[in-house]
Amino acid sequence: MAQQHSSSSNRYLIVLLGPPGGGKGTQAKKLVEVFGMRHVSVGDMLREEVKKGSELGNRVKVIMAAGELVSDELVGQIVGSLIREKTGETILLDGYPRNTVQAEFLDSITDGESVYAVNISVEEGQVIRRLSGRRFCSECGKIYNTYFSPPVRPGICDDCGTELLRRPDDREEVIAERMRVYREQTRPVIDFFRSKTHYFEVDGNWEPQAVFEELCQVVRTFAS
Ligand SMILES: [Zn+2]
Repeated sequence: MAQQHSSSSNRYLIVLLGPPGGGKGTQAKKLVEVFGMRHVSVGDMLREEVKKGSELGNRVKVIMAAGELVSDELVGQIVGSLIREKTGETILLDGYPRNTVQAEFLDSITDGESVYAVNISVEEGQVIRRLSGRRFCSECGKIYNTYFSPPVRPGICDDCGTELLRRPDDREEVIAERMRVYREQTRPVIDFFRSKTHYFEVDGNWEPQAVFEELCQVVRTFAS
């Protein structure tokens, strides 16, 4: 059985790849529900630190507001300790690795055989509409998109009537910067994993439910 791996390895480590706004977060949450794995969103972990106003969070806040990426070393510390703590669990890693340095670091601290990379491939125009249209309710957490899933009354949450907000890193100029960083740094990560044992690709341009079904088919081939 897979649990009999050496004590330093996870049962499976699933790495979700794809552009910012490509639907990784949404798909990850659904996968976790179906397959019962642990969802580790590095972006959420970092935003949580920002919210708490911790020393780490304050450093992260400045970097994220400029659309830049948090240092490999800083994120590596967080991800590394998490992977060591959760030995024996299946982890779905979302938002990491974002460049080849991080990919090589992950490779160095894991057993390559247990790492499964799944790339959700999405066209850039689609990505930009998804990001620039994204709004959220600070009260109930519901997420909208002004292009694809607008609220009934513009700018107001359907469920609780609270004014909708935009994440600071969803502003146009920040999106442009994130896309540039993605093209230059994150795309090579896909090539890195393509050369490894377990690499899968899913077409992420479709409706979230269709993408999810394709994802489930892929994940079922290795995680039951
Ligand atoms: Zn609400």
